[in-house]
Amino acid sequence: MATPIGNLRDIGLRALDVLSGVDAVAAEDTRVTARLLERHGIAKPLITAREHNERRASRRVLDLLASGKAVALACDAGTPAISDPGALLVSAARAAGYAVTPVPGPNAAVAALSVAGFANPHFLFHGFLPSRAAERRGVLAGLARERATLVFHEAPHRVRECAADLAAVLGGGRGIVIARELTKLYESIHVCRLAEAEAWLAADPDRIRGEFVLVVEGAPPPGREAGGEARRTLEILLESLPVSRAVALAARLTGARRNDLYRLALEMKGRDQ
Ligand code: SAM
Repeated sequence: MATPIGNLRDIGLRALDVLSGVDAVAAEDTRVTARLLERHGIAKPLITAREHNERRASRRVLDLLASGKAVALACDAGTPAISDPGALLVSAARAAGYAVTPVPGPNAAVAALSVAGFANPHFLFHGFLPSRAAERRGVLAGLARERATLVFHEAPHRVRECAADLAAVLGGGRGIVIARELTKLYESIHVCRLAEAEAWLAADPDRIRGEFVLVVEGAPPPGREAGGEARRTLEILLESLPVSRAVALAARLTGARRNDLYRLALEMKGRDQ
């Protein structure tokens, strides 16, 4: 079952019904779940179900189910099994013949996606990228042609590096939504181009505090990348206009995508410096 990703009021009525009705709750961190239950006046036995003991926890839960008890599964925040433990317990319970029912609710990735404003109907949830730079760039290179919107989790101490790599590997022209501390007191949602993201994060230490979801525009459809004519038009316009104006005009004149033109413009400007 899903639990709040920050704001404790984001708990559904059905989630409260289920928590009240079950015999036990399997929880990632029992202290976190205990606080949630306490806030709603619910007292239940808690079973620790962390990544390192998920197998053992699954056996305990299966024993309870075998004795006719009902068990809910919660993680610290959001939806279990989404960058969190849970999948093993779900498959073990189903394999043993028990019904497993979702109780939908908060999820950080979907919350960020819902305010991204990207019209693309497809998205690819990647979760955390590798922490080592070379590996991270390799994974991003593999995603460079992906047309779906890309959704990443990122830790505060790596978010700047990650933003720099996203721009370096995917090009600076794509849009990014930097969604921080969603549903919490210091929630912030910043939208910019990948080329600007790292500098924006670096400009204020408060911008790299907390939890992050990064939502990045997918690759442009083949054939709509800026070709030779668009390139020449942009080059000429850039001689006398600021980037945003030159990009807007070149897009109207040539039909090329603004994102591609923007990336090209930044590359051209970089070359000239
Ligand atoms: N299962 C969770 C879900 O459904 O959202 C995700 C758990 S994952 C271990 C934790 C990561 O999710 C954080 O490091 C961060 O990237 C993202 N996250 C969780 N809560 C968030 C929030 N309130 N605002 C932004 N990102 C959040």
